[in-house]
Order: sequence, then structure tokens, then C-alpha cells
Amino acid sequence: MSASSTTPETPHELHQDAAEAANRLEIRKVEPETPLGDVMGGAARWEIPVDEHGFVALVDCMPRLVGEGQTADGAIVQAARVSYGQGTKKVNEDRGLLRYLMRHRHSTPFEMVEFKFHVAMPLFVARQWIRHRTANVNEYSARYSIVPDRFWRPTVESVRSQSKTNRQGGDEPIETGTAERFLSLLDRAEANYREYLDLTEQGVARELARAALPVSVFTEWYWKCDLHNILHFLSLRIDPHAQREIRVYAEAMYRLVREIVPLTCEAFEDYRLGAMHLTRLEVEAIRSGNPLATENRREQAEWEAKRQRLGLD
Ligand SMILES: Cc1cc2nc3c(=O)[nH]c(=O)nc-3n(C[C@H](O)[C@H](O)[C@H](O)COP(=O)(O)OP(=O)(O)OC[C@H]3O[C@@H](n4cnc5c(N)ncnc54)[C@H](O)[C@@H]3O)c2cc1C
Repeated sequence: MSASSTTPETPHELHQDAAEAANRLEIRKVEPETPLGDVMGGAARWEIPVDEHGFVALVDCMPRLVGEGQTADGAIVQAARVSYGQGTKKVNEDRGLLRYLMRHRHSTPFEMVEFKFHVAMPLFVARQWIRHRTANVNEYSARYSIVPDRFWRPTVESVRSQSKTNRQGGDEPIETGTAERFLSLLDRAEANYREYLDLTEQGVARELARAALPVSVFTEWYWKCDLHNILHFLSLRIDPHAQREIRVYAEAMYRLVREIVPLTCEAFEDYRLGAMHLTRLEVEAIRSGNPLATENRREQAEWEAKRQRLGLD
């Protein structure tokens, strides 16, 4: 059976049909109930420098426009209240709902707020950061462009010695002579940069030449993420167990986020950052007054730290 003359036959005709159908739809534009203001105060970006070459810059967020006297927190309660067909209420009621959502890990309303950052950081920090998979990322291309001459470099005083208790960390400053030797090693690694430039000028492909650069070199990216996943990122990377070099970025990011969603951040500090998780064994130890029922020394040390924080000694 042949198709009727009005039935589109080619993919091109199909697309045209859909576009025409969309053109026929009317958009109803609804005025806001109160005048709207920009949560970033009309700024193009809010930037916080990190160490010598790094920065975290907030370049956009959603919602960007909010009603008078409101913060972007309103988008969270608005989404949470959709179930009851109610919008934003008074600020103190919004605060109570936000705190309830945070306490009960009702997380999807927090995904209604988004942030877009422009960040410059050393490659070794970017490697840790990129493990957070829920963000949208677009990174500087060292295949397309020459890598700028920017390297991470600690001061002599900030070179840390390997921690004796934590294999993943460093703690106290190391003695000056060893720190200076480390800085001199970084100097030699940075010296590769001149040869990198030279070889790219000689025609070596940028995508290959970059392999000679150390992980202390800087990269940049745009990083967009929703608030729920940003809080997850922050809870892991603000934590004292996170490496200092990524922690300073997380702290800068938190400073920016807190300005936009202060009520959420207040709840985050009360119920996540400042909160403590107790295991079943720990609850039992508190209840019975007996020692923790485990032989595991690391678990015992963790319990000891919690006991001190709880004032149980
Ligand atoms: C102090 C510290 C030390 C670390 N040490 C190491 C290390 O030695 N080696 C190492 O490899 N990594 C290490 N990491 C990285 C760590 O294991 C996580 O990869 C990283 O923190 C990202 O966490 P995430 O997966 O929860 O976050 P995200 O990727 O942002 O994901 C957020 C949440 O989304 C969900 N999710 C996302 N993607 C998926 C998926 N594909 N499937 C199912 N659920 C998903 C999960 O619930 C996840 O918790 C370390 C991290 C920290 C903070």
C-alpha cells in the first residue's frame, strides 16, 4: 500500500513536520508575582583565588533570578511542595522544610539548583576531582592548544612529611633541607616546559608533546553540577581526610555556594558536615557501657575519636 500524499516519507520531511507542529504551539508567558533579582547581583563571575595560579569561579547558577527577599533555596522547597500543589511559603517555613529534607536525605529537591564553575587547578587535583561522575565537565584541550606555563608549587614550609598513621596522607612539615630538595626536583620537572614548547614549535603534535609535562601543571575546566551532588562532593573533599590541595578548592566552592543557598548550607552544616555516624557496635557500646565489641584496632581508634568528640571520657 502506498503512503498518502500528506504522510512524510523522508527523515527530512519528518523533521520539517515536527518543526512546523512546534511552531503552531503558543507559549504562555507568566509574569512573576514579585519583581525578580539576580542572585549573583549582576556579576559576570564570582571568583576566589586558590594558591598561586588556581581559582574557583562561579559563572552561573540556576535559579539565577529569584523573587524579592528570596534566595535560590526557594527552588528546592518549590520542588518539594509540588506534591501538595503549593509553591514557596514564608522564609521560616521554607527553612523548616529544607532542614527536614536534609535530615531525611530526601535529596531530589536539592537537584533543582545547579551551579556552573570555571576552575583552574593542577592536573593531580583534577584527577581526584574528575572521580565525581555526576558533574558535566568540559576541559581545556592540550591537543588543541599549548598548555600555559603554570605549575603548582608549595612553599618550603608547606612540604609535608608522609603520615605515619595514614598511608594516604601527609601531616607535619618536613625538615627544610628535604623540602628544598623536593622543590629542586619540581624545578627540574618544570624545566621540561621549555623543551615542550620548543618541540611543539618544531612540529611535534601537541597531543604527544604534553606527555612530558608533570602532573603539577595546571588545567582548567567548566564544571556544572546540581546542588545535591555538589554537597556530596563537598562532604568528601572538605573533610580533613581529603588531600589539602583539593580541600582548598572545595572550601572556595563552599564559600561561593553558601552565598547562593544559605539555608541549605546551614542545614548541611548541622546535619551532614557537623554530624557523626555511629555504627551498630558503637550504639551498643554507649547503651551497655561495655568496650566496643571488635578486635579491629583501626575501628577501636575511630571509636576513641568519636568518644572524645562526644565527651564520653
Ligand atoms: C579521602 C579519599 C580517598 C580516596 N582514595 C581513593 C583511592 O585510593 N583510589 C581510588 O580509586 N579512589 C579514591 N577515592 C575516590 C573515591 O573512591 C570516589 O571515587 C570519589 O570520592 C567519588 O565518590 P562518589 O563515587 O561517591 O561520587 P560521584 O561519582 O559524584 O557519585 C555520586 C553518587 O552517585 C552514585 N553514582 C555515580 N555514578 C555511579 C555509577 N556508575 N554506578 C552507581 N552509582 C553511581 C553513587 O551513589 C555515588 O555515591 C578517594 C576519595 C576520597 C574522598
